[in-house]
Order: sequence, then structure tokens, then C-alpha cells
Amino acid sequence: MSIQLSMHSDRRFRALIEHSSDAIALLTAQGTVTYASPSTRRVTGYSAEELVGRNGFALLHPEDLENARQQFTALLDWPGDFITLEYRFRHADGTWHWVEATLTNLLVDPEVGAVVCNYRDNTQRKQGQERLRQSEERFRALVEQAGVGMFVTDLQGNLVEVNEMGCQLCGYAREDLLTLHLGDLVPEEGQAGLPAALEHLRAGGGVKCSQWRMKCKDGSLLPVGTTANQLSTGHLLVVARDISDRIRAEQARQQLLAYEQAARAEAEAARARLYECLHQAPARIIALRGPEHRVEFANAQVLEFEHYADRVGKAFREGWPELVEQGILTILDEVYTTGTPFIGTEVPLKVDHTGDGVLVEGYFNLVYQPLRNAQGDIDGLLLYALEVTEQVLARRRLEELNRQLEAEKDALRQAKQEAEARVTELEAIFEAMIEAVIVSDARGEIRYTNPAYRSTLALEEDADPSLLLLDNRFEWLALRDTEGRLLPKEHMPVLRVLRGERLSGTHTIDLLCRTRKGEDLILNFSGAPIRDATGQIVGGVVVSRDVTGQYRLKQQLQYSEHKLRSLVESNIFGVVVVDLDGRMYEFNDRYAQILGYSRDELSAGTCNWLHFVPPEDHEALGQAMATVLSTGAAPPYERGYLRKDGSRVPALVAATLLDQERRLVLAVILDMSEQKAAERRKQEFLSMVSHELRTPLTSIMGYIDLALLCSDLFPRPLSPEAEQLLGKLETGLKRAMAQVEIEARLVEELLEVSRLELHQFELSLHPENLVTIVQEAVANQRQAALTRQIELVLPPEEVMPVIADAGRIGQALTNYLTNALKYARVDQPIAVGLQVTGTVARVSVRDQGPGLTPEQQQRVWERFYQVAAPGHHGPDRGLGLGLAIAKTIVEQHNGQVGVESVPGQGSTFWFTLPLAAGLIQA
Ligand code: ADP
Repeated sequence: MSIQLSMHSDRRFRALIEHSSDAIALLTAQGTVTYASPSTRRVTGYSAEELVGRNGFALLHPEDLENARQQFTALLDWPGDFITLEYRFRHADGTWHWVEATLTNLLVDPEVGAVVCNYRDNTQRKQGQERLRQSEERFRALVEQAGVGMFVTDLQGNLVEVNEMGCQLCGYAREDLLTLHLGDLVPEEGQAGLPAALEHLRAGGGVKCSQWRMKCKDGSLLPVGTTANQLSTGHLLVVARDISDRIRAEQARQQLLAYEQAARAEAEAARARLYECLHQAPARIIALRGPEHRVEFANAQVLEFEHYADRVGKAFREGWPELVEQGILTILDEVYTTGTPFIGTEVPLKVDHTGDGVLVEGYFNLVYQPLRNAQGDIDGLLLYALEVTEQVLARRRLEELNRQLEAEKDALRQAKQEAEARVTELEAIFEAMIEAVIVSDARGEIRYTNPAYRSTLALEEDADPSLLLLDNRFEWLALRDTEGRLLPKEHMPVLRVLRGERLSGTHTIDLLCRTRKGEDLILNFSGAPIRDATGQIVGGVVVSRDVTGQYRLKQQLQYSEHKLRSLVESNIFGVVVVDLDGRMYEFNDRYAQILGYSRDELSAGTCNWLHFVPPEDHEALGQAMATVLSTGAAPPYERGYLRKDGSRVPALVAATLLDQERRLVLAVILDMSEQKAAERRKQEFLSMVSHELRTPLTSIMGYIDLALLCSDLFPRPLSPEAEQLLGKLETGLKRAMAQVEIEARLVEELLEVSRLELHQFELSLHPENLVTIVQEAVANQRQAALTRQIELVLPPEEVMPVIADAGRIGQALTNYLTNALKYARVDQPIAVGLQVTGTVARVSVRDQGPGLTPEQQQRVWERFYQVAAPGHHGPDRGLGLGLAIAKTIVEQHNGQVGVESVPGQGSTFWFTLPLAAGLIQA
């Protein structure tokens, strides 16, 4: 179709269509688009190509479709005719656009053959119309519903229009009103001004506002506020509002205002009265206003300080900066915002009273109260401050005094307790003391005595108390000095103490006094006065100690010293004090004499006592020195000394340590030369005697043996008389032989002893078995005394090795055994024992004989000692040498001898020998 159009149109027509603001479309009788002009896109949003071939009705709003179809169908019946349609068309962007279309039925026109549709977008206009319509509607509604009456008049003032509200205001019906003149609504009082007002409006004088009273239909006058203006139509519009409410409100407001003013005046007066009262108040009162706490009022108490006057009217912060620092502003803000009053008691504050920056500390009772305005809102604060510094300080002073008082009371209580404790302690000490204690009053009368006092002086528990009275005491104590001279009463220790003397240290006194039992004691008195706090003597303590024993000891010591001195001076012993380095400190004449020196020679200080010891004895001397140093003494031992002339003097020396630190030794020397010489003479005599005796004894024994042999060999038979005589002769000879044997044994012992003394006693030492030695000795004795019972108890050890002279050890044991056999009764058994303890063997012989006293036990070992008592006179009385020989033998074997005995209960003689371990194998 577009091609047809292009073929049938001239260029101008075509340009017109192409550039027309309207869009043009050609439609079939069914509404299908056969042509669309280029403007199509502007109106519909579709391109021409997009629209061609589509049915135009398809793009119409459903609400408009029916009408459009009907009119289109009707148009089809009228070729050449046209219709105008308004419908909503869906734009390519989906929105509905109002379109105004003119459809011309040119179907039958051979040139066109279509319904020509000219159309344009009508949306804007349509919307404008719509807005106008709505606006008119709103306006109408406004006019009708507005709360104001609207009266429209012509220029003369005749009412031509009125709204509903207008009718209501004046009470006329609308038709009645439209017959009236505006002046009919104006009361008498306003008539005069009406013409001028109308004239003003007519002259275009602009809006005129006024208040007047509208005369209503019922004759009442309604207060109205009016706004009048001339309309563009030339009419006059009067808009009237009922202002009766407002007027009433205004009147009420005026009235309220009047009340408020009166109230304010009253309040001011009240405030003035209040402030007057506050001025008189006996506290500092400040009224603050507003959130910045401006000082509105300060009472006389505040203003009393000159510089405070300038603070009225200032903010609190400026007036009292020192209080701001102390946190008061924070409290004020708090009270101001919360409305909760602040109450503080005895708040410490530093205040600058004088204005010179000097802060004075004080205490204040504070009350900060909010002040409220008529609406109840907080708009200020009332500060009330009562200075209570003096009261607080006074109270503090009182409290401090109380505290001090309490502390003093406590101290006093404690002191009392301590004193009591001390008294108890002292009493306990006194009670436990072994010294006698008395506590007296200032006159010397006893207040307290301890048990030791009573026991020392033998004062009975139930003794008459009056005995303790000073005078009585003085009487029975019979105090004397140590020489026995009676003491004057005023020298009594207690009275001396009460005169202020302290008897202590070297000032104690020893006095003789008598106990209640009449015994004399020496007491050592000490004591001191008791003073009160002022130093006044209120009593005394006297302590006495029994020193009688010490005195006696001292006397004894003096006595024994005297004895010693006289011993030293007697010059029986040589006495010397030396140190171990050889220096001599003291010696007596006898010492010098023993050594063959003069006193002066020894005193010269050049002598060293070690020079007096022969060189061969130096080793033994060293041992003796060590013994002295370790044990404090060296037992007496014999030693040779070198005399000045080179000779040797035998001496018995004993030493004791005097001073450990200085190694001072006291040595006592007994010159033994005399004894030694006598001993030697005795030995020589013994030796000579025994030799002299032994030779004839041996010959006598030989002769007796010979006589017996002759008697045996005498030819037999003999006459009975001769036989009897020979028998008697034989018996006599045998008895003589026995006696001679005893004599020979005694002589043998004598010889033995002299050998011992003369050091001619030699041992032949060999490793031996002690068990064997003991067994043999016991067997020999059993043989010799067949009737006697000798038990031998041997240890489990079969071998007890010793280095010994077997013959000598056998001899020692034999001596023990013969004594036991000799001194015990024949019916009493004898027990021989052999034990080992550690490295020592012990041989013992136990009998049930007469036994020995301790003294006898000591002495039996001496040569020639025999117990002179019944039971000790055996059948064969010896010389008292057997035990001495046994002792010498054993000691030469480095063993020990001993006896255990109780008189009447027998004795056990024993000796020990050191074991030589490993020398003899079993
Ligand atoms: P004696 O040859 O006199 O027996 P001893 O030296 O053997 O000499 O003994 C000295 C003294 O010791 C004896 O005289 C005797 O009195 C006493 N005595 C010795 N052994 C015993 C003993 N077993 N019981 C009692 N007394 C004894």
C-alpha cells in the first residue's frame, strides 16, 4: 500500500505527510494497518514497519476498545465521512498514552481504498484537563466545606453567591441571602463604615481585613473576622470566619494575664519576704537561677564577707572557683538536672573568705534544693550552708581526748597487767630460787619470804608470825661477822638496804647467823631498796645465799695448800714446775739437791731440765709428756737422772698438768738411790742365801734318796724288830724328803724372785697354743692331787695362738691352781676357764675358798705378802711369792693379772694374754 501511495502522490504531498506532526495510518475495514507514516514512532514508539500488518485495535486500552469499535464500524457505513476518537493507546514502552484520532472513511476512494487515521499524542492535554477538573472539584469542595463563609457581591454590595458556611453563619437560607445586600448583615454600629469599605475594594485597594459583628437572621450579633477582596471577575468576595471562640479565648487570656500579673506581683512580694527571711537566717543562703547557676540572691551571712557582694549576678562558677574545684559544681548540676536535693553533713570545704586566695578549711552542713517555676520545672537552686567547723573541731577534740583517755586507760591496764604478771613472775622466780629472799616494807618488816628463806633458816611452816618481826629476827638470827663478832642492829642487811644501799657485786656481805635449830650458817647477803615512782624508798629486797659449804671448802683448800707447801718445803721430794719445752719456773731445794746443783745454778735460767734426762730415756720421756698432755697426769714411773757430776740417780717421777695452755707441768721426784741400793743388797743377799741353801738341800735330798735306796737294798728277810725299825726309818726319811722338797721349792721361788728383780729372768718366746698349755697344766695338777676335782671348761676354739714361753705361762697358771687347791677345802671343786674376747685370751681359776677383801685383792700381788687371816694358813705355807711371780711372768708377756673375789665366797684369779692371730694354723 505504501508503494501504491508513493506511486500515487506527488512529492509535496509526500513531504507533507512525512513531516507532519500528526501520525498517519491507513487501516483496512478490519482495522489492520496497511501504512504508517514516519511520525508513527514519535507518537507510538513503534517504527512504521513494526506497525504495518498489525490490527490497530489490538493496541487500544480495553476500556476504550468497545466505544472505538462501535464508532469505527458505524463509520464504515458512511464512505467519505469522518469521526474523532479519543482513546488510550499502549505505547511501545508499555505506558498508556492518550491519543486523539480523526478517522476518514476513504475505502471507496479508488485512490486511497482505506480508512485514513490521523492521530497525535494527546496525553499532556488530557492530563491538563484532568488536573483542571480535579482542581475545580477540590476548589468546590473547599468552598463548600471550608470553615469560612464566602459571600460574593456585585460592585454595589448585592449578594450574588454564598457558600453553605456563609448561610450557616448568618442563619439565612441561600435563596434568602441572594436577595439581600451585604449591608443587611452589618449591624447599626458598622453601617457608617460600610460605604467606605466597599469603595476601598472597588478602587482595587487590595485585601481588607477587619473584625466586626455580623447581624444574623435572628438579630443576634456574631463576631466575625473578614477578609475582603475584589475578584478578577469584578465581583467582591468577603470571606468571614466565626471568631466568637477566639474572642472568648482572648478575653480569658486577658483575664489570665491579669491574674498572672497579680500572682507575679504577689510572688515577687512573697519572694522579697522570703529573701528577707533568708537574710535573717543563721546560715549562708544563696539562690541560684538557671542552668549556669547565676547568683540571684545571697543572704546577709554570705554578704558579711565583703568580696562576696560582687558575686551576686555572676555564675557560681565565676563566684566560687575554689568550690568548683572541690566538686560542688558537679553536685549543683546534679541537683539541677535530677531535682533530687543534696544534703551533706559536716562536709569539709576550703573557702576563700577574705578574697585574697587564702583557703580556710571548714566544715559545713549543706542542703541544695531545686527551685521550681510555676510550671514545676526546675529553674534554680537554693543553697543552704551552715558552718559547723567549731562544733566539728570541738567534737573532734573531744573524740581525740576520749581516744587519748582510752589509750591511757589501755596503757594503764596493760601496765597493771604487766606489773601483775611481773609480780607473779617474780613470785614464781622467788619461789623457785634456792637463795632465801625477803621483801620488806620501809620499816624493815617482812612482807614476803620465799620457801628457801624458811628452809635455810629452819623456820617451821606454822612458826609464830611474830618471829619475823624485825626486832625478834635480829634477836634469834644472832648476826655476826665471819670472825664471830656480833653485828650492831643498824648493820642488818635489810636496814642498810632501806637506807638506800645496794648490796651487790663486791658489796655483798658474808655474815654468820643462827638458824631456828641453833645451827650456825654463813650467809652471803645481797639486796636493793624498792623505790616508788618518785624515788622514795618504800621497801627492800634482801637475798641471802648459804655459803657455809664454800667457806669450809675454802678453809680446807687453804689447809691442803698449807699441807702441800709444807710437803714441798719439807724437801722430802724434789718438786719442780716446768714447761714441756724444758724451761723451769719453780723448784724446791730438794730438786736441786737430787740433781747435784746449787739453787742459784738452777735459777740462772740457763738450765734446761731436759738435759737432766739421759739420752736413752728421751723416747720414754716423749711418751710420758704425751700422756700428761692427754690425760692430765703421768703415773709414777722410775727414771734415771743425770746429775751435775755426770753420775745417774734413780728416781720415781710423777707429773701432773698445771696449765694446759702454757703446757705447765708439776713434777714430783723421789730420790730412789737409797731404796735401790737396799733392794740390790736384799737381792744379792737373797741370791746368795738361796744359792747357799740350795746346795746343801740338794745334797740332803741326795743323802735321803741314798738312805732310802740303802733301806730298799737292805738284805731280806729281817727280824720283825729290824723290819719295824727299818719301816720307821723309811717313813722318817720320806717325811724328811717331803720337807726338803718344800724347802727346795721355797728356795727355788726365792731364786726366781731374785732373778726377776735382778733382771736375770729370761723368757724363751715361741708361737704356742694356749689351749695346750692350759690343758697340760691342769693335767699335771690333776695328777698331783688325785682326790681333788678340777674342772676345765674349754672354748670352741681348738687353737689360741700366743707368743709365749710355754713353761713360764704354765708356771703362772700352776701358781693359781696350787693356791686354789691350797686355800679351798678339799671337797670344793675348782674350775678352770679359757675364753677369747676380741684379740685377748683370758685364763681363769675359780675356787670356793675363803675369798679376799678388796684390800687383800690389791696386796696379794706384792712379794712376800700373805693374808694374815684364818683359812689362809694352808698345809704348805709358802713365802707369799707365787702370785708376784705369776704377775711378773704375765706382764712380761704383755698380759694382765687380776682377781675377783668376795670374802667367804671364793675367788677367781685370772690372767690375759694377747692373741697372736694367724701365727699358728690349726
Ligand atoms: P703363798 O705362797 O703364800 O701362797 P702367794 O703369792 O701364792 O703366796 O699368795 C699370796 C697370798 O695370797 C697367800 O698367802 C694367800 O693368803 C693369798 N691367796 C693366794 N691365792 C689364794 C686363793 N685362791 N684364795 C685365798 N687366798 C689366796
